[in-house]
Amino acid sequence: MNSCSMGDCIKPVKAKGLCAMHHQRMLRHGDPNMVRPRRVKKTIECKWVKCEEEAVSKGYCSKHYYIQRVMNLV
Ligand SMILES: [Zn+2]
Ligand SMILES: [Zn+2]
Repeated sequence: MNSCSMGDCIKPVKAKGLCAMHHQRMLRHGDPNMVRPRRVKKTIECKWVKCEEEAVSKGYCSKHYYIQRVMNLV
C-alpha cells in the first residue's frame, strides 16, 4: 500500500497521493500543508461574586449556573 506523499506522513493514501487527513486539507484549503491556527479560547470568568471559575453558560460557571437555574434567576 502506498503511503501519503506529504513529507513524513506515513498514513495510507486515500486519494490523489494523499492520506485522508491531507486530502481533506487539500480540499478545504487547497493546500495539504495548511493547518488552521488554533484559536486561543478566551475564558470568561463566572459573574458570581468572588468566583473565579470559567463561565460555561450565561456568564456563570457550571455550579453557579445550576444555582441560578434552581433559584429561577436565569
Ligand atoms: Zn498525509
Ligand atoms: Zn461561579
